Amino acid sequence: MTDAGIRVTVREPSLHIDVALDLDLLVLSMPVVPAEGVDELASRLRIATDLDGFLLEAHVKLRPVDFASDGMFVAGMAHYPKLLDETIVQAQAAAARALTIVSRDVLEVGGIVAQVDPEKCVGCLTCVRICPYDVPQIHVDLSGVGGVVGAAFVEPAQCHGCGICVAECPAKAVQLVHYRDTQVEAQIRALAATESVEV
Ligand code: SF4
Ligand code: SF4
Repeated sequence: MTDAGIRVTVREPSLHIDVALDLDLLVLSMPVVPAEGVDELASRLRIATDLDGFLLEAHVKLRPVDFASDGMFVAGMAHYPKLLDETIVQAQAAAARALTIVSRDVLEVGGIVAQVDPEKCVGCLTCVRICPYDVPQIHVDLSGVGGVVGAAFVEPAQCHGCGICVAECPAKAVQLVHYRDTQVEAQIRALAATESVEV
């Protein structure tokens, strides 16, 4: 025991033993925790969080400043505790990524997107609730089944083409472009009609 009379016992994870340290001075560092309200923000924007509640990037190596949802980027302490140098570099990277979008006159999107036939839509909100990217919305300027005001609409630029809403729509009002029911059925019929496949 030192003059300071401070002894700290810690668990040494490699050796699986407790180690007693006699210290002259004990300085406790302040913990950094996610800001208040981050969980609600993440929920509204459909952004994943890590086990500690910090916002989670799409891929730690391949998309380090992107979120899984397109068009949103991360920098700073909302991501995880970091020093100022790293925060600045990350902010520059996020700004550069954002510029690749806002600098374009025309934004090209993937062709495999969900399309709603408003005349079949019953406005049940299933697609609105189930889409992992929060894309479908009920538009009041569209008419659903029987001319009822309001039908679902999918913004092609936001749709990821996962097809979940297509599978879940009880009215079969949603189709996935290039994978419409008629196209998939034709493929199945062609496969069934094939007597043998030569390899
Ligand atoms: S799940 Fe189908 S019927 Fe229901 S709101 Fe969406 S498109 Fe309309
Ligand atoms: S295809 Fe997927 S991403 Fe697109 S609207 Fe449907 S559920 Fe959302």
